[in-house]
Parts: sequence; C-alpha cells; structure tokens
Amino acid sequence: MNNDYDLIVIGGGSGGLACAQRAAEYGARVLLAESHRLGGTCVNVGCVPKKVMFNAASLAEALQDAPEYGFDVSVTGHDWALLKRKRDDYVLRLNGIYERNLANRRVELARSRARLLPARQDGRLPMTLGDREVAASKVVIATGGYPTVPSVDGAELAITSDGFFELEQRPQRVAIVGTGYVAVELAGIFAGLGSAVTLIARGDRVLRHFDTMLGDALLVALRAGGTEVLMAAEPVALKRNLQGQRLIRVADGRELGPYDAVIWAVGRSPAVRDLGLEQLAVQRDASGHVLVDKFEATNVAGLFAIGDVNGRLHLTPVAIAAGRRLADREFGAMAGRHLDYANVPSVIFSHPPIGTVGLSEAEARAQYGSAVKIYSCGFVEMYHAMTTRKPRTEMKLVTVGAEQRIVGCHIIGAGADEMLQGFAVAIRMGATKQDFDDTVAIHPTSAEELVTMR
Ligand code: FAD
Repeated sequence: MNNDYDLIVIGGGSGGLACAQRAAEYGARVLLAESHRLGGTCVNVGCVPKKVMFNAASLAEALQDAPEYGFDVSVTGHDWALLKRKRDDYVLRLNGIYERNLANRRVELARSRARLLPARQDGRLPMTLGDREVAASKVVIATGGYPTVPSVDGAELAITSDGFFELEQRPQRVAIVGTGYVAVELAGIFAGLGSAVTLIARGDRVLRHFDTMLGDALLVALRAGGTEVLMAAEPVALKRNLQGQRLIRVADGRELGPYDAVIWAVGRSPAVRDLGLEQLAVQRDASGHVLVDKFEATNVAGLFAIGDVNGRLHLTPVAIAAGRRLADREFGAMAGRHLDYANVPSVIFSHPPIGTVGLSEAEARAQYGSAVKIYSCGFVEMYHAMTTRKPRTEMKLVTVGAEQRIVGCHIIGAGADEMLQGFAVAIRMGATKQDFDDTVAIHPTSAEELVTMR
C-alpha cells in the first residue's frame, strides 16, 4: 500500500468532506481519516437531526393553531420514539451517501483516529492511523468539537446535545443550562412537544453574542410559550432524588428541580486531544482552538485547520466553504482564494426562528459611532390575526454613513429562517437603505417590512 498522499484530511465532518472531495476533483491523491460516523456533528448530532426536531415542534404549533383556522383536529399525543427511529434512519442513509460520495471521487477513507507525528526532513507531515503510518505534503485538521461539560459535582448526571439525540422518550420536566443557540433551540423543541422546560442562565440575557433585540424578543417568546427562564443561576452541583430525578444546586444556595433530564448547553470545545499537536508545536488559543491565518494555515508549513476546530464561526456552511476554498487554492491553482468571514448569515432555529447577518447595533456603534442609523419595526404577522397566540416579529436594519449602507440585518419571527438568505446576498453586495426602499414589496408577507421601513 502506498502511504504517501498529496492531502490527508483528519475528520469526515462538514469541512473535511468538502475539502477532501474538492481536492480529489482536481486530481489530488487524498486520504480522509474519520474515527466515528461520516458527516460529523452536523449530520449525526447537529443541524440535521435538530432540524427534524424543530420541524416537529413547528408542526405542534400549527396543530395548536389549526382549530382557529376552522379545522376539527384532536391530537392525543406525540410519538417521540417513532420520530427518533425515522430520524435515525434518515441520518443512517446520509452516512451511506457520504461514503459513496467519497468513493465516487476516489478519496480513500480510513476509519481510524489520526495522530500527527513530527514533520519529516523533506517537510512531509506523517501521522499514525492505528498501526499504519501515512504522510502527505498537506494536512488539513477538520476535527470539529464536542459539547463542553462544566466541572461541577454530579455533572455526569446531565446530558449534552449529543445525549439529546439519544433520548428514546421525551422527558416530562427538563432543565437546559445555557443561553446560546443550542440551548434556546432545544428549549423550543421540548416546549413545543409538551415538556415543562426550565432554561437556566448564568447572566441576565439569552443569546448574548447577538444583537440585543434578538435576545430580548426571544426571552419574551420563550416565556410566552411556557418556558421558565431563570436568570443569575449558576449550577454548582447536581444530584439525584429517591425517584432518580435530578436536582440542581445553584451558586446562591437554591435547589432547583426535580427534573427528568438536565442538559448542558454551555458551549463547545475543540477536538484536539491526542492529535499530536504538541509535538509539532502547533499554536492554539487559550481554549485550545488551532490558530490559523486567513488561508486557514497554521504556524506549521503544510498544516491547515478548518471548521469548528479553528474556533472562528461554528457553522456547517462556513466549514464547507473554508474547505472548498482551501482545496481550490492548494490544488486548483486559484491563488489567493480564501473564505471571507464577514457578513456570514446564520439562523437560530428557535421558536420563533431568528435570522441574522452582519454587525449587531452595538458592534456597529463601536466601529462607526454616530454614523450608525437604525431602522426597526415590530408587529404581529397576519397569520396570527386568526389565532389567540400573538407572537411578535421584530426586525432591525443597521446602516452606516450618509449612503446608509446596510451592515446588519436581524430578524426574529416566523419565516426568518427562509427570509434571510436573499437579503444576505444583497447586504454582501453592499446594498444601501435606498436599494431596499427601491425594491417593490411582496404582499402580504412579513419580509415586505424589510423594504418598507421608515
Ligand atoms: P465536525 O462536523 O464536528 O466533524 C469533525 C469530525 O472529525 C468528526 O466526525 C469526528 O469524529 C472527526 N474526528 C475528530 N478527531 C479525529 C481524529 N483524531 N481522527 C479522525 N477523525 C477525527 N451549524 C449550522 O450551520 N446550522 C445549524 O443549524 C447547526 N445546528 C447545530 C446544532 C447542534 C446541536 C450542534 C452541536 C451544532 C450545530 N451546528 C449547526 C454547527 C455545525 O454542526 C458545525 O459547525 C459543523 O459540523 C462543523 O464542521 P467541522 O467539519 O468543523 O466538524
């Protein structure tokens, strides 16, 4: 077996698969090492199964609204186990498709954990894959990350988002610790499907890395949907009661619970353990993310890091785009090609969903001061004219300068997830408020508010 490659990619998740396949399309000899299931976080324990659950919770909302639209529906419950079975089958099919895609492009797949070794004299980068040693002139680390578990007494009594996808039954009472996008997405899913949900926040806000309007509006929506949100509550210990349920002690001495399940959603850590980075003296940040330049290159010649492991933007399309651009540049003769991380749109699949792109109001004010002008609106969308529940849609445009270039767009409300992509194109192209105003509205929609704001 020839153990020398043009490219070895470590990790068969979103970024790794994209990079390996694109490089192989250019004729490179590529090996991809994956120690678990192909597709990585997104396909197995992230975007894909999460979106299935989001859809289920959205359906539950629609069923709740249906009688108010004249339908005679009676829903007696929801079969979580059935949905999980079907979801797992779908993910398994995707795993198979990914494997076939690699084979079709002649990417060699090694189902093994990779561990880097010190560089060879000729500059090639070797690594072990079990008891096999392979080497390449270029190596891409695309090992992603894993959910962080805080070091508190009894932490193991709680699960993480990975464990969420293993639940065979829906817990009746669930506590979610965290306020980031995974926490609020899981809260929306559980609440929609009928669990009593408590969201436990260390500070006094949710989604604190986003425009404040989004977190504030989501907080109102979470509470209106029945989720209990506890602020200034930092778990310091977990224990079981006699019934096996979980109790949480928080820093101020309160005991919370009982809960049938507790979920840590407090962030993610880069998967760099036992990767051999120390012996290559690969530079990392304080959390362990591999430091890279704008070409995703590390401080070691020929060694790159893409996706979650480099800690820039934890999004599947970002990992894919970075991987493809890297392959275009290194194997497709597209000199200088790299990913521009500005104006990357993203969606939070909360209930209601959130779409956001560009600078928050606070970021824009810090960067541009008084040149910032904000346009915002809030309303109850027409769909809810017929329903007793009245969730609000909120929108904000952040503009800069005399020409009012749009540098941020933030939306919370039904349809925000599908609305944002097109607006993100316009904003990336440098659209101004006048361009938005000159675009004729589509009526009656929520999106039309974005081109009619005054
Ligand atoms: P990963 O997809 O994590 O892949 C890394 C792979 O490397 C894994 O398969 C792992 O087994 C393998 N590996 C690790 N170490 C080794 C080793 N030493 N040797 C061999 N293989 C190794 N993003 C979105 O854009 N939209 C969403 O809606 C969304 N929802 C999410 C929901 C949840 C609950 C979570 C946790 C994440 C979500 N994300 C979402 C983020 C998205 O999943 C990640 O940004 C994306 O998967 C990162 O891709 P990656 O290639 O960097 O790493």
